[in-house]
Amino acid sequence: MAATQTAIIPSGTKGAKQLRACLLCSLIQHPLDFRKFGCPNCEELMQMKNSGDRVTACTTTYFDGVIAVIDPEKSWVAKWQRTSKYVRGMYAIRVRGRIPEDVEHELDNRGIRYRPRDQLDQD
Ligand SMILES: [Zn+2]
Repeated sequence: MAATQTAIIPSGTKGAKQLRACLLCSLIQHPLDFRKFGCPNCEELMQMKNSGDRVTACTTTYFDGVIAVIDPEKSWVAKWQRTSKYVRGMYAIRVRGRIPEDVEHELDNRGIRYRPRDQLDQD
């Protein structure tokens, strides 16, 4: 099974409580999919595949404002992604929480300043 440029879109957002958002790119997936496939955008940095602990550390259930597809070119993620592309999928507009320190250091090594997604507003 080759990786595609489309994330697995969770069916039905009603049970959204079970879904988790990637702390780095805000992609929303079912935790089992994060564990099975990692984050299609950030797996290189997050390394969640086959690690429930990493999924817990790198994703959160505290997110809101779900959008279906975003324009890949406008994302800040494109700055550190070699492909310069977000996969299509469901994304959270706001995500609470911080990426693990090792991931932050890795971004730092690449000369990229991490912007926590939960500081977009101050409530
Ligand atoms: Zn991600």
